[in-house]
Amino acid sequence: MEYDKYLSEVDAAATATGGKVVSLAGGYFGVQLPADGANVLLALDLDSDQGWVVWAEDSLGDRCCDYAEEVIGNCTLGELRLRAFETLAHHVHA
Ligand SMILES: [Zn+2]
Repeated sequence: MEYDKYLSEVDAAATATGGKVVSLAGGYFGVQLPADGANVLLALDLDSDQGWVVWAEDSLGDRCCDYAEEVIGNCTLGELRLRAFETLAHHVHA
């Protein structure tokens, strides 16, 4: 995926989910959704075809555990918010 397209996709995802764009390490951006005193982070994998990934962070930005990332895969932006919370609901802390 081209970087420009990546950025516009992340922007569109923030709009679609009601979240906000936040910068991640390494030139990546994610979408942050507030949830129960913590945050849900959505990120699009730029280097592979796995699509969207999701993880939970506390208010200080620490991930819930070392294996926090769960793969959502490819889905429409309209489904993304629901799929993010569904996917996280199945997360088992390592
Ligand atoms: Zn966890």
